[in-house]
Amino acid sequence: MRETVQQVWKKRPMIISGPCSAETEEQVLETATRLAKTGKVDILRAGIWKPRTRPGSFEGIGTKGLPWMQQAKKITGLPVTVEVATAKQVEDALTFDVDVLWIGARTTVNPFSVQDVADALRGVDVPVLIKNPINPDLELWTGAVERVAKAGIKQIGLIHRGFSSYGNTEYRNAPMWHLAIEMKRRNPELLMINDPSHISGRRDILLDVAQKAIDLDMDGLIIESHIDPDKAWSDAKQQITPERLGEMIGQIVWRKEDINSEEFHAALEKLRQQINHLDDELMQILSQRMSIAEKIGEYKKNNNITILQTNRWNEILERAFKKGEKLNLSKEFITKYFDAVHMESINHQNKIMNS
Ligand code: PEP
Ligand code: MN
Repeated sequence: MRETVQQVWKKRPMIISGPCSAETEEQVLETATRLAKTGKVDILRAGIWKPRTRPGSFEGIGTKGLPWMQQAKKITGLPVTVEVATAKQVEDALTFDVDVLWIGARTTVNPFSVQDVADALRGVDVPVLIKNPINPDLELWTGAVERVAKAGIKQIGLIHRGFSSYGNTEYRNAPMWHLAIEMKRRNPELLMINDPSHISGRRDILLDVAQKAIDLDMDGLIIESHIDPDKAWSDAKQQITPERLGEMIGQIVWRKEDINSEEFHAALEKLRQQINHLDDELMQILSQRMSIAEKIGEYKKNNNITILQTNRWNEILERAFKKGEKLNLSKEFITKYFDAVHMESINHQNKIMNS
């Protein structure tokens, strides 16, 4: 039985898949048929208009590809989604019965473009997915959500596709998971889908990224799939065949955020209480540390000494790394933690110095 978009929207996990770009009618239809056959996909995707960072690469087949998506929907019974970046694209997509629209990362960064898309959506009842902007800015992402919501769109979802940075990293787009977690915390009512394809930029770490997203209680995944990945006209390195997609979805361990067992909840509650106690103690101790830092501040002020003393700071860090290693605390964590504590100490001392 064909599911309505409303039903699909409530599905957890929600799996979206399809090629990065629609290339030919055969490619779209074969990908769609093979994806549907896996039984693991809820929505078909394909880029019709491709915002490429540099000119000269394939920029999308354009409106001509929309009837192919319509046909893919007819054959598989699956709803379809495409990216829209202008009012005209919204209009065209809706003319060809696209079920779900998505706003790409390069559009979310630009309030003019988002507003243009939002204005075209006024009075239309279509779900919209909004990718994070390419830069790590939650306000821009939030702004895009607000613009689309103000246009009257009720079903809004978020797509976490990672953030671009200068230089090569392990990822094509750094996931910065904490930003997705914070966005989810701020918008608990919005669906949050993870895009392992654009985070990874390559096949070999797709599953790891997808698993991490599911472990962070995300609501679904959007993963690119192509019948001949290496020959894809865009994003060839990160695409996988429909069969591999099906297999990968099967390999993910689907953990639930909550289960109903009372025993489990009682045990969890006890451990959480312990965590609360420890957190309280940590804060008490930090507050004591700041009082001592303030005393040192007084001393520095009276003797006209600078707040920051690089040698002392290096000594603190070296000590902490050694201790941390024995206590099973990573160097990365120790660095972040001491940076934060140190900054807070400096702020306390600054107040004293300038009082
Ligand atoms: C895409 O989904 O193919 C795409 C262009 O993604 P993003 O906007 O995340 O770069
Ligand atoms: Mn892509």
